[in-house]
Amino acid sequence: MILPTLGEERRGAFNHAFVVTLADGARVEAVFYRGDTLCVSSQVGCAVRCPFCASGANGLARGLTLDELRGQVEAVRARGLVPARVTVSGVGEPLHNAEAVRAVLGWCRAEGLAPSLTTSGGPLARLRDALTEWPHNGLTLSTHAGTESTRARLVPKGPPLDALFATLGALVPTLSRTRRKKTALAYLLVEGENDAPDELDAFARRAAPLGLTVHLYALNPVPTSEARAASREAYEAAFARLHDGGLTVRMSSKARVEAQGGCGTLVALRAARDA
Ligand code: SF4
Repeated sequence: MILPTLGEERRGAFNHAFVVTLADGARVEAVFYRGDTLCVSSQVGCAVRCPFCASGANGLARGLTLDELRGQVEAVRARGLVPARVTVSGVGEPLHNAEAVRAVLGWCRAEGLAPSLTTSGGPLARLRDALTEWPHNGLTLSTHAGTESTRARLVPKGPPLDALFATLGALVPTLSRTRRKKTALAYLLVEGENDAPDELDAFARRAAPLGLTVHLYALNPVPTSEARAASREAYEAAFARLHDGGLTVRMSSKARVEAQGGCGTLVALRAARDA
């Protein structure tokens, strides 16, 4: 296997972030954080085009091959870093590159690397497979909204909430207790977009019956978007509101909110430098 080239872009208090250049010159990102977890990319660009994310700003170029997915892990190991966990949560929508992503999750398991993924949820048939059959130690489902209009704005090519929660409502009760514990919802708080009490309450009404953990993420602003992080006060108010709505809520880790930590930022900055 030819390993991709790693360009170290940032070494922060909590993470090492790399621009990964693939054999054809395409670029993605890999981030080693908390001293034990490696976040890898599954596609060059992304078709979901969430407006707060730099990865989807130019749409999708292509999916990564299994060797390119594994190559990110091997290239980081070759730098002397030792991941214990691998999460497919970087550039790209994992369910849009299902065959290679499923295969790399299995490879990670065989290597003793606990694998996980983050998805916007579509296509729903693949979400069903991922929830019930894929070899992972954690699946986080990006929702970011309580109403359909907000979901359509923030996750434009993801499945609508009604269909998504109908699928989850049918499936989650059939999962084993272990699988249920490994499944979580994510709500990224974006100032003026999804931080209103009505929006949060609508999300809590949908999510509470599932009994899944909810990760409330603070936004990392990216250079391709006007989207702004909510203030700390608004973030804490949202946390309290979701908690009062009956949800088990977790806050963002420090690793997630470092400067230039937004998905796709490093590739966008490198492209701007090279232009
Ligand atoms: S947040 Fe994820 S799904 Fe949305 S555009 Fe970025 S990489 Fe794609």
